[in-house]
Amino acid sequence: MNEERKIKYEVLETRNETENIFTVVLKTPSGDPLSFSAGQYINVYFPETGKPEGKSYSISSPPGEKNFSLCVRTIGDFSKRLSSLSPGDKVTGTEPYGYFFSDSDDSPLVMIASGIGVSPFRSMILDQLKKNPGRPMRLFYGSCTLSGAVFGKEFETLAKKHPNFRLRYFITRENPGHPLAERGRMDGKKILSMLSFEEKGESAEKGGNGKNLNNAEFLICGSIEFTRDLWRSLQNAGAPEENIYTEAFF
Ligand SMILES: Cc1cc2nc3c(=O)[nH]c(=O)nc-3n(C[C@H](O)[C@H](O)[C@H](O)COP(=O)(O)OP(=O)(O)OC[C@H]3O[C@@H](n4cnc5c(N)ncnc54)[C@H](O)[C@@H]3O)c2cc1C
Repeated sequence: MNEERKIKYEVLETRNETENIFTVVLKTPSGDPLSFSAGQYINVYFPETGKPEGKSYSISSPPGEKNFSLCVRTIGDFSKRLSSLSPGDKVTGTEPYGYFFSDSDDSPLVMIASGIGVSPFRSMILDQLKKNPGRPMRLFYGSCTLSGAVFGKEFETLAKKHPNFRLRYFITRENPGHPLAERGRMDGKKILSMLSFEEKGESAEKGGNGKNLNNAEFLICGSIEFTRDLWRSLQNAGAPEENIYTEAFF
């Protein structure tokens, strides 16, 4: 088996996003933008701890920027170590991996995230708004609380500016009191019913633009349990299996 090529990335910045989620901004050794597709991740290693195993982190920034970022929830040893890095520190990582993205340029994208699973979707949304500005995109975003929904404010601003991008929160541990949020867990049936409702609304508003959600691609990202449950319930609700892509954070 081929050894993974290891790269020493330089930490430019770490910043808190919510109480237990932070962003780390990294620079490639050459200073050139990292080449990747939105949805990919890198593996990170801390060889100085004597542990050979690495962990994976999705890239949260869009391709083409000078530097790239990871968004990390502090859970255990590895994520805590990442959170304690300072500007100028070096991090051992790999080149980008993974196939968590759509190959199409115009199919409607239905992104379904729970918690920190939203990280690759930030990359995709910013990338698509630039490359394919009219592409229909929906983000269904589950979080325990509204204030814990990382990038929420940024997504809300984007949704106001770009009618093709719509956001819906599902908040489980409080009454959200927010026009884009409802209380409770999401499931495939709720998601599909909202899509068909929006589709009708959209054609009525715009007189139809030829783009409907029949050929939508569904991307699910979050914990193993969340990903598995949504994958099943979307299929049970009628979403074609071949149009569903998953990325489980374990
Ligand atoms: C392809 C891929 C992409 C990933 N991208 C990201 C990313 O963008 N951002 C990110 O923060 N993480 C991401 N992860 C998860 C990441 O790789 C680590 O597993 C995570 O940071 C926990 O590692 P740790 O050593 O800090 O905690 P651990 O020591 O592994 O865990 C500490 C405790 O938390 C529990 N735990 C672990 N994970 C979870 C969880 N998801 N939810 C609830 N409890 C948990 C464990 O059971 C344990 O009790 C990704 C994983 C994969 C496979």
